[in-house]
Amino acid sequence: MSRAYNFCAGPAILPTEVLQQAREEMLDWRGTGMSVMEMSHRSGEFVAIAKEAERDLRDLAGVSDDYAVLFMQGGASSQFATVPLNLLGDKSSADYINTGIWSKKAIAEASRFADVNVAASSEADGFTTVPDQSVWHTNPDAAYLHYTPNETIGGLEYDFIPESGSVPLVADMSSTILSRPLDISRFGLIYAGAQKNIGPSGLVVVIIRKDLLGQARAQTPTMLNYQVIADNDSMYNTPATYSWYLAGLVFKWLKARGGVQAMGEINRRKADKLYGYIDASDFYANPIEPRFRSWMNVPFTLADDSLNSAFLKGAEERGLLNLKGHRTVGGMRASIYNAMPEDGIDALIDYMQTFEKERA
Ligand code: PMP
Repeated sequence: MSRAYNFCAGPAILPTEVLQQAREEMLDWRGTGMSVMEMSHRSGEFVAIAKEAERDLRDLAGVSDDYAVLFMQGGASSQFATVPLNLLGDKSSADYINTGIWSKKAIAEASRFADVNVAASSEADGFTTVPDQSVWHTNPDAAYLHYTPNETIGGLEYDFIPESGSVPLVADMSSTILSRPLDISRFGLIYAGAQKNIGPSGLVVVIIRKDLLGQARAQTPTMLNYQVIADNDSMYNTPATYSWYLAGLVFKWLKARGGVQAMGEINRRKADKLYGYIDASDFYANPIEPRFRSWMNVPFTLADDSLNSAFLKGAEERGLLNLKGHRTVGGMRASIYNAMPEDGIDALIDYMQTFEKERA
């Protein structure tokens, strides 16, 4: 078997052990004679799989009973609308921090439903930094404060959790959830598309403080109403059963490896090693202010853009895949989520060194 090092930002590399287990269980899940894909979502078997996945996620992330955990569909992008529809309540305005392309998408969608106050933005700095909280113009009467802890495209990551006082804090954790320990109690709501650190795409996990349920606007589509989804254990309609099952396998894999504490140490080591190499070289560069560099998505440029395609071709020949940067930013990007082994970082650095020697 040959497994590539897949540096895709998402759908991303999954742990080989998880895929092996899924393969073993594919045709006959534990003597049922069925694949999980073929099971009724109302069956005892699937309900057990679903509940266990939720329990494991709660254990891993330290989610208390004050929060509901929802397994929804439509990816993280559907949450850009779902959040304002559910959280505005009787207020009209919400605060957003703009630190990159994903923030902008969340802002654009929320603007269809709310008066969006962009309380701070680092757009003028090319999204290479996070504005200090002392200069944020937040509104104490906002329905919530939304931010994007990790900008997947720009490779920009907050190294702090914003203080929002009594205003509920909402975070798009798509590309950073479960990558290290996190104090969930600081948040009103967290959402995360699954296809980076959790499992297959389409599934989106929502962790919401229970007192924020039950205030959806009257026109909110039933499928987007958090209260309805919570009341029905995320099975108001047919959920994304196979993705949910696979997410459960990933949670078990994480637990067996020491959970988010151990992952955080490994992820820090991986990121430090890669940024360390980039900084030491005159050939590669990363533009982000060092304290806000993402542990999960590492963009970098080559000294000469005309070498990009040769770099990518050579990388592919070595099984280092999907290093091309996002079309809006160019250059390269290595996404190094939980499932990317440390060997993958070593292999990438080894290739970068060789390429630099040959071309610089
Ligand atoms: N937010 C962030 C931070 C993301 O990285 C992504 C996907 N790359 C999304 C939202 C959108 O996710 P989806 O494609 O699941 O809608």
